Amino acid sequence: MRSMVFAEALLPEGWRRDVRVDVDAQGRIAAVVPDAQPGRFVALPGMPNLHSHAFQRGMAGLTEHAGASDDSFWTWRELMYRFLAQLTPEDVEAIATLAYAEMLERGFTRVGEFHYLHHAPDGAPYADRAEMGTRIAAAAQATGINLTLLPSFYAHGEIGGAPPVQGQRRFLNDLDGFAMLVEGSRRAIAGLPGANLGLAPHSLRAATIEEIRAVGAMAQAGEPLHIHAAEQVREVEAAIRILGLPPIAALLQAGLVSERWCLIHATHGTAGELARVAQAGAVAGLCPVTESNLGDGIFAAPGFREVGGMFGVGTDSNVLIGAAVELRTLEYAQRLALRSRNVLAPRGGSTGRALWQGAVEGGSRALAAGPAGIAPGAWADLVLLDPDDAAFAARSGDRILDSLVFAARDGVIREVWVGGRRVVEDGVHPLRAQAERRVAAILARILAA
Ligand SMILES: [Zn+2]
Repeated sequence: MRSMVFAEALLPEGWRRDVRVDVDAQGRIAAVVPDAQPGRFVALPGMPNLHSHAFQRGMAGLTEHAGASDDSFWTWRELMYRFLAQLTPEDVEAIATLAYAEMLERGFTRVGEFHYLHHAPDGAPYADRAEMGTRIAAAAQATGINLTLLPSFYAHGEIGGAPPVQGQRRFLNDLDGFAMLVEGSRRAIAGLPGANLGLAPHSLRAATIEEIRAVGAMAQAGEPLHIHAAEQVREVEAAIRILGLPPIAALLQAGLVSERWCLIHATHGTAGELARVAQAGAVAGLCPVTESNLGDGIFAAPGFREVGGMFGVGTDSNVLIGAAVELRTLEYAQRLALRSRNVLAPRGGSTGRALWQGAVEGGSRALAAGPAGIAPGAWADLVLLDPDDAAFAARSGDRILDSLVFAARDGVIREVWVGGRRVVEDGVHPLRAQAERRVAAILARILAA
C-alpha cells in the first residue's frame, strides 16, 4: 500500500482539498480521504481514450493537401489504405509506442484500441493470427498506458455485404477466422496489468446485422462491444437504401444497443435514435478532433445530454492527440453551430468540469474499466497539474480545469500515473524521444517508396 497527497483533487462528488489517496499493490485505489494532509499537485482522474487507430498517428499531417477532386472522408480513406499497405508489425509497434506516449503526456490513461489492421500486406494472416494485436499490447506495456484491445471484425466493403476492395484485404476475417483472432488477442493481453478485451464489429459497412450478432455472442461477460455508427451522410443514405433504416435505427431494431455498447461517432443519429441510445445506456463515442478533420459533421450533444446520454472521447485518427483538445473541440463545435457559449455545462456550472467528468464516466463504461474517477476500487489513474504554473495563476478547482481545457499551452500536465505507477514525469514520457526517432525512420522509408 502506498499513499499520495494532493492540494486538491476532483472526486466524483466534486473538488476536495488536502486529499490522501491510498493505492493497493495491484494499482487500484483503496481509499480516498479528503481534509487529510496538504500536497503539492492538483489531481484529476485520468481520461479514457475510448477510440484509437494507433497506426494512423504515422500519417498525421500528411493528408492536408487538396486533391484533384473534392476531398472528403472517402478520399482520405484512400490515402489511409495506401499508407497502411506499407506497414510491418515492427512499424505498427513503433508508431503505437509514440502515439501512446503522447496520449499519456496529454492526459489519457487508458486507450481503447479499435484494431482492424490484422494481416500481412497480401491479405494472408500472419503465422500468429494476433501478431498485430501482440504488437499493440507490447506498445501499451512499454509505455505503461492501460489497454482495452478491441479486435475488429471486418468482412465486407459496403452495407448489405458487398465485396471488399483491395485496400481492405489486411482487415478481413470470416467468423471462424475472427474467433481465432479473438483467442490470440486474449493471449496477447494476458499478463498485461490493467488490460482487458472488447470486440468491435467494424461498422454496418463491414459487417451484416447477423455477423454483428455473432460477434457479440463471442464476447465474454463484462467485455464491451464497439462499432462505428453513422459517421458519414453517405453511409446513412446507403443504409436507408439497402436496409430500409439508418444505421443506428437498424442496430436498435436488431436489439443490438445496450449498456455494453459504444457507438463510435453516432454523428448523424436523429433525436429519436439518440434518445433510445441514451435509454439503453449505450455510450456515444465522440472523436471531435478527427470528426472536424474529416468533415464528418456535428453530433447533437446538447439534446443527447438532456435525455441523460453518456459520452466519452476518442482520438480516432490521432491527427492531434490530447484530452483537452478533444473536449475543447466538442464544445467549440456546439458554440459555432448554436452561436452560444458554455453549451455543454449545467446551469451555473463549469464547462471544463462537465466535459472532463462526463467523458471520464462515459469512457470508463465504454471500456469496461471498472469504477470511474478517483474513487475506491478504480485504477489509480491520475493526471497531476501544478497549481503554481502560470496557466493556473490565482485559480483553484473548476477554474483550473476550465483553464486546462480552454486556455493552457501543451505541457502543463506535470505528471501522469497509471495503476499507481508514474509514467510521465516533468511533462515528458521517457520513451518519447526514442519513439520519435523510430517513427521518423519509418516515414522516411514509406514516403520515399
Ligand atoms: Zn474509427
